[in-house]
Amino acid sequence: MNIVIFGAPGSGKGTQSQRLIDEYSLHHISTGELLREHIAKGTDIGKVADAIISNGQLIPDNLMIEILADNLKQHPDAIEKGVIFDGFPRTIPQAQALNELLKEYDTEIHKVVGLEVAEDELVRRMLERGKSSGRADDNIDTIQKRLNVYHKQTQPLCDYYKASGKYHPVNGNGSVDEIFDEIKEKLK
Ligand code: AMP
Repeated sequence: MNIVIFGAPGSGKGTQSQRLIDEYSLHHISTGELLREHIAKGTDIGKVADAIISNGQLIPDNLMIEILADNLKQHPDAIEKGVIFDGFPRTIPQAQALNELLKEYDTEIHKVVGLEVAEDELVRRMLERGKSSGRADDNIDTIQKRLNVYHKQTQPLCDYYKASGKYHPVNGNGSVDEIFDEIKEKLK
């Protein structure tokens, strides 16, 4: 099963992806993590991504799609295991490109889990994470920009996936265990 874990920054995508991997041994692709690895290694992609991430904006679609396609190529067992897409897609063109890419592997996105969290809780979580994450974007100015970008560019994807019948909303405000239980229900 291929799953998109969808939600605003701070909605718990990374945490719940980890739980899903532990439970179902899926291949995990977090585009945010891949970009942070590029930055840490000082690659050309990392150099482009660094300023964009610190400013709370999105990396251009074509570059993101290339990074994603490369990751699938490098992990030949990914499709067989099933993939969790965490932080991708973030725009409608990315979602369309993902459909095309998966078609090449004779597969598709089966379910989209939408973590729905109140805005003040998102901000609280990211500020809390910022105390230890070392992330350049977990500060109040960048958080605000990331939320604006989310509302403008990423949220329209909700309707896109609702129209395909694949969107499964999950209340993302509770404890990690409660949320995970609801996700498992929705994946049945
Ligand atoms: P995340 O770890 O998912 O919160 O991502 C951190 C940052 O990486 C985002 O704020 C974006 O700047 C960038 N990023 C991650 N995934 C994508 C994506 N699919 N498209 C564009 N930018 C992305």
